[in-house]
Amino acid sequence: MGGVVVALGGNALQRPGGPGDWAEARRHMRSTVSALVEVVRDGKPLALTHGNGPQVGQLLRQNEIAEREVPPRPLDVLGAESEGQIGYLIAQELEAALHHARLPRSVVVLISRMEVSARDSAFRNPTKPVGRFYTDVEARLLRKRTGWTLSYDSARGGWRRVVPSPVPVRWVESEAVRQLLGSSWGERIVPVIAGGGGIPVVRHRGGGWEGVEAVVDKDRSAAVVAEALGAETLAIVTDVPGVAVGFGKSWERWLGEVSAAELAGHAAKGEFAAGSMGPKVESILRFLDHGGRRGVVTDIPSLRRALRGEAGTRVTRASR
Ligand code: ADP
Ligand code: MG
Repeated sequence: MGGVVVALGGNALQRPGGPGDWAEARRHMRSTVSALVEVVRDGKPLALTHGNGPQVGQLLRQNEIAEREVPPRPLDVLGAESEGQIGYLIAQELEAALHHARLPRSVVVLISRMEVSARDSAFRNPTKPVGRFYTDVEARLLRKRTGWTLSYDSARGGWRRVVPSPVPVRWVESEAVRQLLGSSWGERIVPVIAGGGGIPVVRHRGGGWEGVEAVVDKDRSAAVVAEALGAETLAIVTDVPGVAVGFGKSWERWLGEVSAAELAGHAAKGEFAAGSMGPKVESILRFLDHGGRRGVVTDIPSLRRALRGEAGTRVTRASR
């Protein structure tokens, strides 16, 4: 089908250090969608996915504060809530901006599930921090009361709940959404898919799916979605202009056009931090390995130019 899948990072959704209210979220989204309008104007079918870290953090906190009156919801349900609220925000702001630009499209938000394997080793080794920081005393109580795994963050001096981050095996709704989009993807519909990485589900013995208390990495899910849609380009939008080698060191070098083989070489040398740039690079390499044409890492201001090959890091499939 061609087209571009754009994965929006936490920063494109919420300004760190802001008041965190809805009015600000709308203002911030308005600046993000203006870059997306340019992508549509350039004539590319567009599909979106997005992160949800700060939003799930807020939902967990709401649960915590309200727990005496409203029973807390499990993490898979909070994933669905975050897909709903962020998707709604994107739909409102992006549709309005596209209408204003005389590019009428329907932004369709799809609550998405990602199949993960119950045997994924991540379930024995939870690593993904969620929610707020806890003191020693709180951590001890929570461990006893909830059975959570908590892990100490020495850099920031506190305990955090960690949950499994299994790899996505399959996007449950992919076939149905492909049918929905048909040949009109790009002409009429901008789908928002697998927000927050999608809701992790495992296959139920009796058929159907069971939600699990885990988080799927949104960059990994973006690659699964891009592959399922037959997209040409996977663009991962974050808060840095691209991928660097020697990141933060005096010999730091930002990559422009780079082959998959070269990028894989840098990854093998440990250039990309686990949990931030690591999964982005891994996901782009996977996408290119499974038939994708191009991977892009960039920030919102450079997105349009990056897609035109003039900015950001552009990864091309080439003989390994
Ligand atoms: P997002 O919310 O967009 O997924 P992340 O914080 O997960 O954002 O990933 C982006 C961050 O990755 C950057 O802010 C940067 O600090 C970090 N990073 C780690 N290694 C690198 C690298 N080699 N090149 C560029 N950024 C890197
Ligand atoms: Mg991230």
